[in-house]
Amino acid sequence: MFTSCFLILHKKETMEIFTIDAGTFLCDGGGIFGGVPKLLWERQIKADHRNLIPLAMRCLLVVSGERKILIETGAGNKLNKKFVENNGISNPHRLLESLEENGFSPSEITDVLHTHLHWDHCGGGTTFDEKKQAVLTFPNATYHCARSQWENAMNPTPRENDAFFEEDLLPVQKSGKLNLINDNCELIPGLELRIFNGHTPGMIVPIISYQGRKIAYVTDLTPLTANIPLKWISAYDLYPVTAMEEKLSFLREAHENKYILFFEHDTQTCCASLRWDEKKGPLVERKGDLQSFI
Ligand SMILES: [Zn+2]
Repeated sequence: MFTSCFLILHKKETMEIFTIDAGTFLCDGGGIFGGVPKLLWERQIKADHRNLIPLAMRCLLVVSGERKILIETGAGNKLNKKFVENNGISNPHRLLESLEENGFSPSEITDVLHTHLHWDHCGGGTTFDEKKQAVLTFPNATYHCARSQWENAMNPTPRENDAFFEEDLLPVQKSGKLNLINDNCELIPGLELRIFNGHTPGMIVPIISYQGRKIAYVTDLTPLTANIPLKWISAYDLYPVTAMEEKLSFLREAHENKYILFFEHDTQTCCASLRWDEKKGPLVERKGDLQSFI
């Protein structure tokens, strides 16, 4: 016969992660490498005759229990033909194709996390309906970004104002599905959000605890593996010295704790680990796909 039994089951959610491809675009090589001379950066990545280099829009889907959290949404399909051509956007519909290839439909996504609101990071979060009104691409999702980034995007400096588009942002606000994050926090257990301010105020770096390792989705803190050396910062950073200091401090932490760095924009390399040089600081130790690190 059973007596009362108090057994608390701590159900440990298993997490799955999926790399989601939102296509590529072209960006001025000088913009990505700031003050670094082309003679040096072109040894790392070849530019075309217009000085453009390809950038990936590599998103990440985190599935944990009932939650399906999509980190970033790429440029999306609302941009006009001229913008798509000028920016060499490869396939405006790639995000949804890639989700489908991985077995997910837009209505299943419970959360969209935007590291920041520049068009190449958040454009896919909204889409045009049949009346050409911008609506949520993921109708059942809560959309997250940092409060300071939202406020900045609503009132940007002239230096940054062509990086934000109203139709990417206002439908999210209007839907009532916008969640603004005030500070560093955990979105769910095992998914930490860390806020940085050098590239743009309130940029989130998500850090995922997965199979005993930490995967840092480095977004525009380090757009490409070639941006890892200390001074190889982008001309698009709003506050370059802050961006450099934040990168140094985070990459030191990443090196000491053997984080896997996950690159959104690097077409050649999805993930990398770091080594530390006494004089030069952070350098790439090893590159590979996510599976090769887990
Ligand atoms: Zn950016």
